Amino acid sequence: MASQIPALPQSFAPGTDSVFSDQSGFHSLDSHVPGLSRVILNKLNMKDYGEYRAAVEGNTKVSFRNYKEMFQKMEETFKFCTGCNKLPEHLTEGETLKRCVKCLNVYYCTKDCQRKDWLQHKKVCKTLRLVAIDRLVEWLMFTGDLPFPTEKWSKSAAEVTNWDDWLPMQGDLTPRLDAILSGGDMAALWKNANRTQPDAADLRQSLWRLQSEFLSRVLTVGMAIQHFGLDPYARPLTVHVAGASHNETMRATATDYDELNHMFPGHQGIEIVMVGPEVVDGPIMRPPLTAFGPRERVFISAYKGLYHQFWEELVEKEEAAKPDLVVGFHPGFHANPGLLQGWLPTLLLLRDYNTPSFFTMYK
Ligand SMILES: [Zn+2]
Ligand SMILES: [Zn+2]
Repeated sequence: MASQIPALPQSFAPGTDSVFSDQSGFHSLDSHVPGLSRVILNKLNMKDYGEYRAAVEGNTKVSFRNYKEMFQKMEETFKFCTGCNKLPEHLTEGETLKRCVKCLNVYYCTKDCQRKDWLQHKKVCKTLRLVAIDRLVEWLMFTGDLPFPTEKWSKSAAEVTNWDDWLPMQGDLTPRLDAILSGGDMAALWKNANRTQPDAADLRQSLWRLQSEFLSRVLTVGMAIQHFGLDPYARPLTVHVAGASHNETMRATATDYDELNHMFPGHQGIEIVMVGPEVVDGPIMRPPLTAFGPRERVFISAYKGLYHQFWEELVEKEEAAKPDLVVGFHPGFHANPGLLQGWLPTLLLLRDYNTPSFFTMYK
């Protein structure tokens, strides 16, 4: 299996101690477009990956003069020719990178490159158009416009197995979406993004995609609770999210898992402990509970470090409860031998303690 994985450029080759998912992200960037990670770091005025991590963790401030500059820098990280992988600094005199006018998500150095890539690109152009919108609208997660509030459930958890079951319980989403649509942050976004505002229908769908992606993690935990026959009405439950990344923790708030209150109304208390080396400091960074959780409430705590360290430091000393369930979101160890090495102690631990464990994967 290892022989099928292409050789990775030296600069960002993760070692067996590699635990950061964005490091392998940088990697796959470089394996597609050699030098792209360097370009991104330059755009962000950072000298290396270490500085990038420090910024992600909030230890150094990435400062933008204004939103316009922020969106511009974001966009510049996508500027390379999708046809021949040429970066802006390798363009010849008079050449400029031009965006595909349909998706506004990929660039080409020449008409020729675009023509050659079209057979491939036409399969994904429609999807990439939406991706390009989502990438900008995602900013509303930081401003607090997203996620929008949800309604109580009229069905039992067991009756809700997909979005088609969940949606009718919410009534009409349009007023909630339109409130965001007509809000000040949405206006600021398109005033500063380097493109025209998509129409309302596209934006509503984008808002919904981001909201449902956010909620899907919460609902996955709820479904795993049911899958293993755990009963949140009989006793408080402790759920560890192993390998929690900055994706889940960068803008995390104490209410992020409150949909579980709708899912299991009147439960005995559910604690979610985010554990991972990429956990970002914030309001959820507080010690795990050692005794019964607060009834009918979800309590989120966090630990920054590897999962087996968390066990040694807190669980084994009974400073954190043993988990009833461990969940991992897209750990990526099936695709990356470096990450698997990092995860191995965790997987062995879960096996030894016979802990119900639930891992999601990208297809
Ligand atoms: Zn090209
Ligand atoms: Zn396109």
